[in-house]
Amino acid sequence: MKPTSGYFIVSLDFELFWGVFDVKKLNDYKKNLQNVRVVIPRLLKLADAYNIKLSFATIGLLFVKNKEELLEAIPAIKPTYSNQNFNPYRLIEEIGTNEADDPYHYANSLIKQIQENGKHEIACHTFSHYYVNEDGQTTQQFEEDLKAAIAIAKKNNVELKSIVFPRNQINESCLNVCKKYGLTNFRGTEKHWMFNTHDTKKLGSPAHKGFRLLDSYINLSGYNTYNLSSIKNLSGMVNIPSSKFFRPYSKSLKFLEPRRISRIKKGMTLAAKNNEIYHIWWHPHNFGDNIDANFNNLEQLFKHYSSLNNDYNFNNDTMAGLAEIIKKV
Ligand SMILES: [Zn+2]
Repeated sequence: MKPTSGYFIVSLDFELFWGVFDVKKLNDYKKNLQNVRVVIPRLLKLADAYNIKLSFATIGLLFVKNKEELLEAIPAIKPTYSNQNFNPYRLIEEIGTNEADDPYHYANSLIKQIQENGKHEIACHTFSHYYVNEDGQTTQQFEEDLKAAIAIAKKNNVELKSIVFPRNQINESCLNVCKKYGLTNFRGTEKHWMFNTHDTKKLGSPAHKGFRLLDSYINLSGYNTYNLSSIKNLSGMVNIPSSKFFRPYSKSLKFLEPRRISRIKKGMTLAAKNNEIYHIWWHPHNFGDNIDANFNNLEQLFKHYSSLNNDYNFNNDTMAGLAEIIKKV
């Protein structure tokens, strides 16, 4: 079957503090994390208005309702990272007892809101923001983490089908594990060297970061759109690669915002005209500051999607939905 339309895919890495504990101090980032409680309902409303389905790649730890449940849900075998800064379990003693007293580490009520909406996908972002390419951890430890994620999701009536790997670190042995547990697809990275997530030290270096920032405004890496029939299965998992990280609104670079949005729109148009995929992603907490400006930007993209839907039959689905379609192409 030849693809007859392109697809606009939107994934969100939903993680609260579990996604940034190794790079940020909680006190410095509370506003962004607290505002996720404003951002998620607003996102659901906007997505409804434009008939867009979202995939929320959610950290397993966010599903638990309280510390007691958390202690039951965590895997017995934990990652033995050489750099203990990556180990989230060291935070457990400090966190609060439930969502009401610690909105930075618990999010069951937000997950329920997404579920009740009924249109979106709740996907996997591992149980503990697991880094599969960091030194010291093993594939077996990843497997235990994934099992914990699947179990807590199942307890909440969610069947995990798609995975977004934390920091986009991916490797084939972990993809094999995902396949073994019934997951069907993952979000790969753009092909350009500046997105090579295997060498984690390089990825975080100022030069690489600088190139990725520039690439948001100037076309350095191309548009990273993908033909459905060229999408590769890796270890039996469908790769739905990223086209662009949707950076948060920048006050200091606000004069460049139109350029950034226009670059994304061009990529979407290219995908729509050529029956390709355009996959955009970010974190709900990225919208936790300058909320209105971020939503204005997003609405521009959603409006553009609507017009491409009219003109070129450009479509939209969740990651899991698209994986099913790709299998038939
Ligand atoms: Zn993450």
